[in-house]
Formats: sequence, C-alpha cells, structure tokens
Amino acid sequence: MKIYDAHCDVLSKMWNDPSLSFLDGADLHTNLQQMRSAGAGLQLFAIYIPESVPDAAKFDCALEMVDIFYDRIIRPYDDVVAVYSREEARRLPPGKIGAMLTLEGCDAIGREITRLKTLIRLGVRSVGLTWNYGNAACDGILETRGGGLTDFGKRIVRLHNENGIWTDVSHLSIQAFWDVLEETDLIIASHSNVKKICTHPRNLDDQQLKALIKKDAVIGVTFVPKFLRNDRNASIADILDHIDYIVSLGGIANIALGSDFDGIDQVPRDLRSYGDYPKLIEELRMRYSNKEVEGFLWRNLQERIPS
Ligand SMILES: [Zn+2]
Repeated sequence: MKIYDAHCDVLSKMWNDPSLSFLDGADLHTNLQQMRSAGAGLQLFAIYIPESVPDAAKFDCALEMVDIFYDRIIRPYDDVVAVYSREEARRLPPGKIGAMLTLEGCDAIGREITRLKTLIRLGVRSVGLTWNYGNAACDGILETRGGGLTDFGKRIVRLHNENGIWTDVSHLSIQAFWDVLEETDLIIASHSNVKKICTHPRNLDDQQLKALIKKDAVIGVTFVPKFLRNDRNASIADILDHIDYIVSLGGIANIALGSDFDGIDQVPRDLRSYGDYPKLIEELRMRYSNKEVEGFLWRNLQERIPS
C-alpha cells in the first residue's frame, strides 16, 4: 500500500549537515532506501528555517533548501519526481515517489509578499503561516499574546487562494486558526494530534477538529511522542488512539499522516523511521477495512491536494 506523508524536516536536516545522503543517510528518519522499501507514494518536504538563522539570512536559507530539494532529492534519482498538483499525484505511475515542497512558517519572507510569490513559483504548494511564535503574519501557539491573523497574514492567505495553495494551520495560535478558517477552504493541519488525548498546546481541541472536518480539510496525525502521550512514552498504539478519536468525530475521510520525521529527536518506540511504516499499516489493518486504511495512508490526502 502506498504511503503519503504530509510533513517531514529532511530539508532542514540536510541543510544543517551537507554531508547527509538522501539515498541512505543513517541519520535520516526518511531516506530514499527506506521510502522505496516501505512503499512511499508522496512526501511533503517542509522548508523550516532554524530559529538560530538571523532574520536577514532567512530568505536565502529558504532558497538554499529549495536548492537541496531539487539538486539532492529530485535530480539524482529517476524514481523521485516533483509534484505540484492533485492531478500529477494521481498520475504518478507505480514505482515513482512524488515530492512536494512546503513552507513551515513565513518568517523567511519577512513582510515581502514577492518573496512568497517567488517560493510558490519555485514549487511550494502548502504554507504554514508561522512556527510556534509570532511573526508578521500571525502568532504561533506558544506566543503568549495569542494574536490572530494580521492584515499581512490575510494577504498571504488570499494569495494562497488565488494560487491554489494550502494554508497549514499546524503551529498556529487558537485565534489565528479560526481566522484562517474564515479566509479559506484550502486547509491542512499537516502535523497535529488530538488535545483531548494529549494536552500539548500544539494539538487540536474538539471544536477545531470538528471545524476542520466541516471544512473538508486534511488532518495529518503526527508521530511526535510529546503530541501522542502526556508521558511521551509513545508507540503505534497511541497513533491508533488519535485516529480512532478523529474517526469518532466524523473525520474518517479527513485523516492523513504527517510523521514529522527528521524534525523530532524522540520517536515512537516501534516506529523509529520511515522503514517502520509497514508496522503501522499492519496495525491499522487489524482495526479498519482496506479501503479505510487506504484513505488514511494516501487517498484522503491525494483527493484534497489543491488542483
Ligand atoms: Zn512543525
């Protein structure tokens, strides 16, 4: 069964360590050899600029990650293909792995909308407005001010709508989350879990989950141990608990997976890297029909890629 994954931080890791090989880097949770053997279908690759990069250097850093995406992930491998639309994802023949660029946080563009337009022209198809803190677009969930979308943030979301770009609500403040839902129907929460099960502020409460389901958004259940269990001692069973809960809210067609591999230090004890995906699939199959598992693994995400 093919696997679509809505979020990883491979680009950031490869930017930090230029010696890392995408093919078989042992320090990568998501490397090509593991993706091939597990049955990868599509991977979303986030441009995440480390907090330590000074503001003035952030846009260059984003461009360097775009460069890594094309030169070190796509170009060397015949079976890895850049994907920009739903139709392209659908048409990928078996044996090919799609790769889609996303942006995790708009700090890199400062207050320059042209920079975002440039990143979209370079292939970015999903944009998170901020990471955990505040920027020119909105506040993140750990910014105590808790502000919503700024006028600039609204401009960004309008640009997304004009260009068929997802707005990613993972990491946003509660207010920014609701503001985004007012502005667009192209919504993904690429890597967030259920707050009712694990109280970390990065997770989504029932009202938010229900609103995402009503909006027909994608909800990418994530493997981050601290978003799976309050005691962080997470395993595949916990991922199933989060999936079951979203299903109970009526979200069976919205659930996808957003591992956050390579963006996390700790991993679930039985899901340590991309190569362990088949174990998750096996456990899902014990509880859900083949069609439902296909939905979680790839179809729900594929059907919602902006066209
Ligand atoms: Zn993240």
